[in-house]
Amino acid sequence: MREFDVVVIGGGPAGYVAAIRSAQLGMSTALVDEYIGKDGKPALGGTCLNAGCIPSKALLDSSEHYHRVRNKFASHGIKAQGVELDVPTMIKRKDKIVATLTKGVAGLFKKNNITWLQGHGSLQLGMKVSVAPTNGGEAEVVQAKHIIIATGSVPRTLPNLSIDQEKIVDSTGALEFTEVPKRLGVIGAGVIGLELGSVWSRLGAEVVVLEAMDEFLAMTDEAIAKEALKEFKRQGLDIHLGARVKNADVTGEGVTVDYEDADGAHQFTVDKLVVAVGRKPHTEGLNSTEVDLYIDESGYIHVDEYCCTNIPDIYAIGDVVQGPMLAHKGSEEGVMVAERIAGKKTRVNHDTIPWVIYTWPEIAWVGKTEKALKKEAREFQSGTFPMRASGRALAMEETVGLVKVIADAKTDEILGVHIFGAAASELIAEAVVAMEYNASAEDLACIVHAHPTMSEAVHEAALGVHKRSLHI
Ligand code: FAD
Ligand code: NAD
Repeated sequence: MREFDVVVIGGGPAGYVAAIRSAQLGMSTALVDEYIGKDGKPALGGTCLNAGCIPSKALLDSSEHYHRVRNKFASHGIKAQGVELDVPTMIKRKDKIVATLTKGVAGLFKKNNITWLQGHGSLQLGMKVSVAPTNGGEAEVVQAKHIIIATGSVPRTLPNLSIDQEKIVDSTGALEFTEVPKRLGVIGAGVIGLELGSVWSRLGAEVVVLEAMDEFLAMTDEAIAKEALKEFKRQGLDIHLGARVKNADVTGEGVTVDYEDADGAHQFTVDKLVVAVGRKPHTEGLNSTEVDLYIDESGYIHVDEYCCTNIPDIYAIGDVVQGPMLAHKGSEEGVMVAERIAGKKTRVNHDTIPWVIYTWPEIAWVGKTEKALKKEAREFQSGTFPMRASGRALAMEETVGLVKVIADAKTDEILGVHIFGAAASELIAEAVVAMEYNASAEDLACIVHAHPTMSEAVHEAALGVHKRSLHI
């Protein structure tokens, strides 16, 4: 029986990073993964690289180029005629990026001497992992000193509709359309619904988004959510709040969707329907019951702050444990667990994990919202700065949005930074560093920011906490 210091189950950003860090620290490492790529071959990288972060961002970029050339070039004095859309080429470009990255991870595995076991992994008593090969054949059982479970998550579905990946699709199917649907329905105005809804809307689809909750983007700061809703509606996303989908049927014409809102029952027909109602932890087939691995009532593997499960030397990281389902959160947990196995005292600060929603403009934040702070009865003050007052935003014609910095009323420690605007995904990094070092709004206000940059908006919002903004 082959023996390893560390056996990781799951090759997404949580698992493959944990494997690389374990190997870097001198531990013999194997990783079990069952993902089969679009080409029918085993692929590392999990949801993120194969059907999540990377392919969705590839399409977001392509659709933004198309939208820009058609709608934004003219005011710059650039005339573009005969612009045509070639969706299959767009999809091919996306697939090429995915292949480059997934092969890149396989290359990193080779370089770090990590054994890639292609198949389904399940736990066995006595720190063993059984690997049922993807291409059939007899299962191999390997012995582990430490096991890291990183089996990720899968899309949630709704009871009265079935995903056929043709007309009713989940996020994976929505990355594979070969032509632009004329009418696209999206269930769920969450991260996936808004990102993928934006892609197909920019490419020309009429997009209707149905969201069960009355509040738009409840996890973001209220001021940001309000601006974003206004902007997305202006862009053409037909967003209905308080609209709970009951049923969807594939018919000859497309998909008939039944939903209810405060005004009663409604029905409409679309060509395709994207179901984006959240994701759930994936623990199926792990054999958790036999080994007594504790899974909580929401389906997550129960772990402590160091990702230790109830079984000594078995850890769980990434989407399969509580916390935001974000690639970078899983990767950092992977690094932490590998380092703790190697005897280091590493920890992850879950309070400073940034969020980004890759709409255009982007939404990004770190820390707490005003609503959450009010609930805690914590006294705070905030400064905001609108993008329309930024010279760089004007030069770029990207004047939608704002930056908000929230700080403790007494200590001035930054408690949250919220951005809606172009390049928000990059701007938020400064706020993460500041919060990680317990910076005050004054600290951020004292730092010199290059002119003219979008980052000046962050600076101005920090100045605004003490009513000292200069350009508003
Ligand atoms: P996963 O990436 O889900 O990987 C788990 C792996 O384990 C898979 O390969 C699976 O096949 C394998 N596996 C499961 N069970 C077994 C088993 N028993 N044996 C063997 N193998 C097994 N996050 C961001 O931070 N930024 C983004 O921009 C972003 N965009 C996204 C866009 C979309 C459309 C989607 C769907 C998700 C997006 N996410 C994004 C979320 C991100 O993809 C996840 O948070 C991340 O992939 C979780 O990583 P993970 O390693 O925990 O699990
Ligand atoms: P989500 O939780 O962000 O949004 C799902 C939405 O569907 C919710 O607003 C919910 O109220 C709504 N909903 C549920 N049932 C409904 C019904 N019957 N009718 C109408 N609406 C309904 O989930 P998601 O968008 O599917 O994304 C899943 C997760 O993937 C995210 O939470 C995030 O962690 C991750 N992700 C991250 C990124 C990123 O970091 N940019 C991108 C995509 C996905």
